[in-house]
Amino acid sequence: MHELLIATRNPGKLREFAAIFAGLGLRLRTLDELGISDEIEESGASFAANAILKAEGYMALSGIPTLADDSGLEVAALNGAPGVHSARYGGVQGEAQLRYLLEQLKDVPWHARLARFVCVIALARPGHATELAEGTLPGVIEFAPRGTGGFGYDPLFYLLDENMTLAELPAERKNQISHRAAAARAARAILERWMAEG
Ligand code: IMP
Repeated sequence: MHELLIATRNPGKLREFAAIFAGLGLRLRTLDELGISDEIEESGASFAANAILKAEGYMALSGIPTLADDSGLEVAALNGAPGVHSARYGGVQGEAQLRYLLEQLKDVPWHARLARFVCVIALARPGHATELAEGTLPGVIEFAPRGTGGFGYDPLFYLLDENMTLAELPAERKNQISHRAAAARAARAILERWMAEG
């Protein structure tokens, strides 16, 4: 194996994966490069189901080994919501989405605001079973947004170890500790095995 399609249209994710897979001797390809404009619907009930749908779907379109990921926020007091609906939680986006999450948690005290980010990566290759790599990042949902970095729920996601929100954390540090980085490191181990298998 010498090529891997990274099935994302998010340039930030592409850069993160490229950094973590550096030195493997793999040629990373993108959807744009391969002229793939189809969108595969994330209709699964779990992060894993969505990652598998995308990895296998884009492998069928490209004919080469393919990586796809799905990620989101799980809040314990909301029974794991927003989960796979993170991108469209409350039917709103941006700051309105942060306000919506705060409203859902308005009566929940500090000690019960446990949450985690989850990232599941699916790796598909022709003729083999698809494999999964997972990463998580634990935190606590703040009472008001803080910080300007990152994206999505970062301004509300307080990290006990860092004593700041993910949006206040330098990007390089986020890329070391994030759920996506942890999943990508686990994926790298799978790719090393695939490469050794030829
Ligand atoms: P996707 O994996 O790109 O589909 O991400 C789904 C959604 O999860 C995003 O739109 C964000 O709302 C949320 N999310 C995933 N990762 C992060 C993160 O690192 N910070 C903040 N929000 C995230």
